[in-house]
Amino acid sequence: MDKLINNKIITTLICPVCKNDKFNQNTVITKRLSDEWNLSSLEENYINKQQGKFCTKCNSSLRSMTLANSILEYFKYNSCFKDFCQSKYKNKLNVLEVNEAGHLHRFLENFKNHQFAEYPNVDIQKLPYEDNIFDFIVHSDTLEHVEDSLLGLKECHRVLKSNGVLFYTIPIVYGRMTKLRDGLSDSYHGSQNENQGEDWKVITEYGADFWVEIFDAGFNEICISKLDDKASFAIIAKTRNKFSYKFDFIAFIRRLIQKLKSFKISYIILI
Ligand SMILES: [Zn+2]
Repeated sequence: MDKLINNKIITTLICPVCKNDKFNQNTVITKRLSDEWNLSSLEENYINKQQGKFCTKCNSSLRSMTLANSILEYFKYNSCFKDFCQSKYKNKLNVLEVNEAGHLHRFLENFKNHQFAEYPNVDIQKLPYEDNIFDFIVHSDTLEHVEDSLLGLKECHRVLKSNGVLFYTIPIVYGRMTKLRDGLSDSYHGSQNENQGEDWKVITEYGADFWVEIFDAGFNEICISKLDDKASFAIIAKTRNKFSYKFDFIAFIRRLIQKLKSFKISYIILI
């Protein structure tokens, strides 16, 4: 999205969900949240942009746009997310959406095999699905509210097929390490309302080491996909071949020779 014109970087953002090029921005970080999280003004700015900037046509937040863009790039799809969800992929891919993936939900519903797992009916820590059945999973700003986020990621890994992929976002404050809010005052986010209920309580404040639990959960590869600037990135966690069996041709020939030798010996004894 960046262009170099007269030695200046000009960012020309196009909404990857609907191709619109007009945006507005709301302020979402309240003084209360800023104090609870102990944010600097720089950190407030990029979180406000990530959560508050939105497309004037499809209403997608920058967070949703970033997530959509990461999916389009992964599948090398050359149009917008709205079209992607109506393309040949909608009949081919098994999709799991855990809680509403921001503004992408109404588009993801177009997938023929789309499972929508919404808390409290479905808990990411105990997904009611068989192993190895989904091609991709999407969730957006869910994991920071989960009691055991590592277990949530392990469950995602379990239900993904080999070479499956998880696309997600979490709020990250880059200049510090991840910490649990144990022993700190309760903090909530999701709307401006102070009484949002326990579903919105923040358990984990993610920092620069956010990637550790992804590997701990069993994923083999992590990519970070940027849309506009560091206020907007999505995490792409991939499984490789989940079955450790690999065909060993040399071992196969050796076993075959052994079999033939023993067969020949048995045959000679018999005659
Ligand atoms: Zn849009």
